[in-house]
Amino acid sequence: MSQLVEVRVPDIGDFKDVPIIEVLVKPGDTIAVEAPLITLESEKATLDIPSPVAGVVSAVKVKVGDKVAQGTLVATVDVVAGEAKSAAGKVGVTEGNPRGTGDTAVAPKKSGTTPVTAPSTSAAAPAVASAASFTGKPDIECEMLVLGAGPGGYSAAFRAADLGLQTVLVERYATLGGVCLNVGCIPSKALLHVAAVIDEAAHADAMGIRFAAPKIDIDRLRTHKAGVVGKLTTGLSGMAKARKVDVVRGYGHFLDAHHLEVEETTGSAQEKTGAKRVIRFKQCIIAAGSAAVHLPFLPDDKRIVDSTGALELPFTPKKMLVIGGGIIGLEMATVYATLGAAVDVVEMQDVLMPGPDRDLVKVWEKQNLSRLARVMLKTKTVSVEAKPDALLVTFAGEQAPKEAQAYDLILQAAGRAPNGGKIDAAKAGVMVDERGFIAVDSQMRTNVPHIFAIGDIVGQPMLAHKAVHEAHVAAEAAAGQKSHFDARVIPAVAYTHPEVAWVGVGEDEARQSGRKVSVAKFPWAASGRAIANGAEYGFTKLVFDAETHHVIGGSIVGPNAGDMIGEVALAIEMGADAVDIGKTIHPHPTLGESIGMAAEVEHGSCTDLPPPRKK
Ligand SMILES: Cc1cc2nc3c(=O)[nH]c(=O)nc-3n(C[C@H](O)[C@H](O)[C@H](O)COP(=O)(O)OP(=O)(O)OC[C@H]3O[C@@H](n4cnc5c(N)ncnc54)[C@H](O)[C@@H]3O)c2cc1C
Repeated sequence: MSQLVEVRVPDIGDFKDVPIIEVLVKPGDTIAVEAPLITLESEKATLDIPSPVAGVVSAVKVKVGDKVAQGTLVATVDVVAGEAKSAAGKVGVTEGNPRGTGDTAVAPKKSGTTPVTAPSTSAAAPAVASAASFTGKPDIECEMLVLGAGPGGYSAAFRAADLGLQTVLVERYATLGGVCLNVGCIPSKALLHVAAVIDEAAHADAMGIRFAAPKIDIDRLRTHKAGVVGKLTTGLSGMAKARKVDVVRGYGHFLDAHHLEVEETTGSAQEKTGAKRVIRFKQCIIAAGSAAVHLPFLPDDKRIVDSTGALELPFTPKKMLVIGGGIIGLEMATVYATLGAAVDVVEMQDVLMPGPDRDLVKVWEKQNLSRLARVMLKTKTVSVEAKPDALLVTFAGEQAPKEAQAYDLILQAAGRAPNGGKIDAAKAGVMVDERGFIAVDSQMRTNVPHIFAIGDIVGQPMLAHKAVHEAHVAAEAAAGQKSHFDARVIPAVAYTHPEVAWVGVGEDEARQSGRKVSVAKFPWAASGRAIANGAEYGFTKLVFDAETHHVIGGSIVGPNAGDMIGEVALAIEMGADAVDIGKTIHPHPTLGESIGMAAEVEHGSCTDLPPPRKK
């Protein structure tokens, strides 16, 4: 049995005779609870009118240009009886509370910002299948709930709080900061810094300065790394307190589109105490991140670790295998090789470090292949036998050794998988794909418009700075601002020695796609600072669109490449051309001036290289 429900414009505050600028549904559309039906635009704001029920639109009673006020009939929706109860039963369908939460269609106004609910487009597909309904009494109520306190989650929570939303942040671990601060970006960079110091000391010999061979006290190194992490995570807790963000410790999973249950956890891991609390939220940002992929054929043995285990520095192995030649694998290979391990790297693809242009990786290889004991490309790990004295590994593929190889530590760095499948998102009506990713629109809204998702859980590239940027967009959109993810580029960096950094369109990618580009390269062999630093092997490259002459990509290989690539990203965002970059005065002597010089190469005005060939 179905029931025809009239959907009317709810209480929209002081707004009267507000014109409709978009009608988002048509008769026959299947819609979810909260799916936006129309968009209104007043002098002060735009706002969506969502459907309080799921069903099939039987008629749309308004059109673009019509002026509406509270009570105007928008559409009629054919609702299957059972479903009508769960959604419409909680809300005054024709009386106009579209969210069924006591709030109106307008976002909270605490900050005094213009209230806006922006239109959700691509991800707001009306496809909520089995949204559940929780009828119990919540323990905590909030305007904004953020699930997961990684760089995405804590940034979203802090931004939301700064914009006046009363915010709760749920995290299963004892400290804030997620993968990045606790077991990712920061501890890996602390160890890579130590590796760089050891490298530098060794290279100083060529400059007439001889140090004794380093003595590594692994316990103190571990303590140093923990100290770096501790300083940052403690700082985050303080900032949460200062913003009155309520941090709730435990494992969260959805009960429905407005309730999350948190199973309390304790200790340094995720041990559950049995206590549970239910949080009722008006809006939510899912920032539950990702986890390392564990290869199913590997035995359960403490000598086989993922990046988290490797960062714990259990011991310095004599022989180590790194499975996976991507950035994380190569960063950890750098650390362990510098600490004294003989490191083999096995990679199924035909290249190491997929992503940047190959000419950058060639430079990296020249500086690094001697550091590694063996690199096996187009080769896979077939089996691992855990013996008491060693892990015996068999390989297959082009560069596979015939005999099984013995290792005392194996790092599996075969990628990361999103946590979307572990939070009962379906109960909230949020669509999760078969890999665990959640689709979002440009405001980071999921298909359920008051639930946003950000960071690793929404897709590649899985990088902390992307998560933070998305966090700000989501929090601002939730607070009623017209924020969208409209960044043109996201830079990427391998913090190896040397560093490899790239952003925007690569030269290889442009050539493969047939895009007409002009490429300008400044070799660091002509940079005074690079020569002084012993880094003349590096280079800086810019890619320009052949028609607009705007810079569309850039890459750098050499020390501090990661610190410099931001300038290229800014130039791309600003639509700069070679003159803009080249005529920006860069300080001398720096590695950064190589960006200005690469632009001068493009422009034909570089005087630090032999004269350009006449065209
Ligand atoms: C070794 C390593 C090095 C890296 N180095 C870099 C780097 O140099 N630069 C860079 O940009 N990126 C780096 N990354 C990637 C970066 O760490 C991630 O992209 C980033 O942490 C993603 O942020 P996030 O907020 O989306 O998720 P996460 O950091 O994964 O945080 C998610 C949080 O949610 C919590 N959570 C998940 N599910 C639940 C639940 N059900 N209930 C409660 N809490 C939950 C988790 O405990 C976690 O704290 C590195 C990653 C690794 C593994």
